[in-house]
Amino acid sequence: MTGQETAPTRFVIAGGGSAGWIAAAVLSRALPASAAQITLVESEEIGIIGVGEATVPLIGDLNRFLGIHEPDFVAATNGTFKLGIEFVDWGEVGNRHFHGFGDFGPDIAGLPAHQYWLHLAQRGAMDAIDNWSMPYALASRDRFAPHEALSGEAAQFRHAFHFDASLYAAYLRRIAQGQGVMRIEGRIEHVERDGETGLISALSLNGERRVEGDIFIDCTGFASLLLAGTREIGYEDWSAWLPCDRAAAVPSARAGRFTPFTRSSAKSAGWQWRIPLQSRTGNGHVYASRFISDDEAVAQLLEGLDGEPLAEPRLLRFTPGRRERFWDGNVVAIGLAAGFLEPLESTAIQLIQTGVNRLLEFLPGARPDPALAAEYNRQTALEYERIRDFIIAHYCRSRRAEPLWREVATMDLPETLMAKLSAWDASGRVPLSDLESHQEPSWVSILLGQGIIPRASNPRAAIVPEERLRATLDQRRDVLAQAAAKMPDHAYFIEKTCAAKVPA
Ligand SMILES: Cc1cc2nc3c(=O)[nH]c(=O)nc-3n(C[C@H](O)[C@H](O)[C@H](O)COP(=O)(O)OP(=O)(O)OC[C@H]3O[C@@H](n4cnc5c(N)ncnc54)[C@H](O)[C@@H]3O)c2cc1C
Repeated sequence: MTGQETAPTRFVIAGGGSAGWIAAAVLSRALPASAAQITLVESEEIGIIGVGEATVPLIGDLNRFLGIHEPDFVAATNGTFKLGIEFVDWGEVGNRHFHGFGDFGPDIAGLPAHQYWLHLAQRGAMDAIDNWSMPYALASRDRFAPHEALSGEAAQFRHAFHFDASLYAAYLRRIAQGQGVMRIEGRIEHVERDGETGLISALSLNGERRVEGDIFIDCTGFASLLLAGTREIGYEDWSAWLPCDRAAAVPSARAGRFTPFTRSSAKSAGWQWRIPLQSRTGNGHVYASRFISDDEAVAQLLEGLDGEPLAEPRLLRFTPGRRERFWDGNVVAIGLAAGFLEPLESTAIQLIQTGVNRLLEFLPGARPDPALAAEYNRQTALEYERIRDFIIAHYCRSRRAEPLWREVATMDLPETLMAKLSAWDASGRVPLSDLESHQEPSWVSILLGQGIIPRASNPRAAIVPEERLRATLDQRRDVLAQAAAKMPDHAYFIEKTCAAKVPA
């Protein structure tokens, strides 16, 4: 049999931020060169957004897939380790809780451990539930080790990273180019469409260069040049639930604790992030411009720094929400071009990863297929909405007194979130659906952490006699604390295994 050679599919990725280079690195790794020719167009003059410095553990899967050596990656991106997020003043001023990348211990008699915590808390004082989280046991002591260094219950956690966003894009670029991706420098000035099919046929760059393709991946950031710019795709605006619409970002000199976690501190009209890198600290104030002026927001940001600012604060504007469709014809938007959720749970890079993986899953053969695109769109929309609900859950039961917090505490909620909160109130359960990014322990840490206590726990928790239960939980808590105390300091671990190779 003589097979006819088919030409490789020409993928054109527009944009070279984290989204563009993750797409380029993954596609060039996943697809044989005989099947795919991958070109990325970016404009140095326009540049990248340059924020996006905290991640979630899913990034470990991406690193493994790309064959990335973790110490090399951390050193090259000025990185540090992240075990979770510390929330300060959320729920009410003076409150402090931790959302770790782990759970609260194994089930007991088929019931999640937090149910027993609730059961006991209804009968007497209990330590904060964070004490049953291994990420917290490490983070509260500024210690770090990957889970492989531990065993048993103390090993039930994952880690993520903080890194310099520009160095990260450059790191992925080296990988992608090493795998054969062609990079073209230039500003996209015009998007050409086929008169008959309406599909995008080429990008025209300044200097009259044309880049033709079969599938176009729009990673042009907020501009969404290919999808929204040419296909008239609407935007579902979620500001009614998530009023924050601006951020001021500033790096500061490294000072204070060198934490293996991100800190998020609630403020009068938003919240402030603190992300420790090896050579500096990344900071930003995410705020609702209806409740605070830019000048006041910047002043609050600067007041909240623990080191000298190293640059002028940068202002960024955004509208929370998502594109009505992500894949339309032969263009798929990934990254900021697809939608935006405030970075409270550092979910943007995760959404890029799942977007690229899903694109690979639904990749058409010779020509685009509307059914594949429809399924891609359905799943992606759900994924965004589930994360949206999780983020709203950080706001909607706040007891803080300032106008932003009063507004979010009384607003109408999405039905999907109301169903979860109502189940939580009734029995400390959070029913999950498909395409959830955050599992029950994450919801438990956010809700309990803010002091949102259910009316009852699951009656089955009474099956274990109270004294035995207290002894079991005490022992679990102590095992984690002892295991964490033996692990190295975060700073020491970095110095010994992955000190930055880049100048500060
Ligand atoms: C305030 C803030 C904080 C954030 N914090 C986090 C966080 O902690 N964790 C996290 O995961 N995410 C975070 N994000 C999101 C994260 O920054 C982005 O998801 C991520 O950087 C990907 O961006 P991007 O590649 O989609 O867009 P960009 O980085 O904006 O890249 C766009 C690319 O398109 C190119 N381009 C645009 N127009 C043209 C044109 N006409 N011609 C040629 N090229 C063009 C640009 O040059 C650039 O290369 C944050 C975002 C904001 C706004």
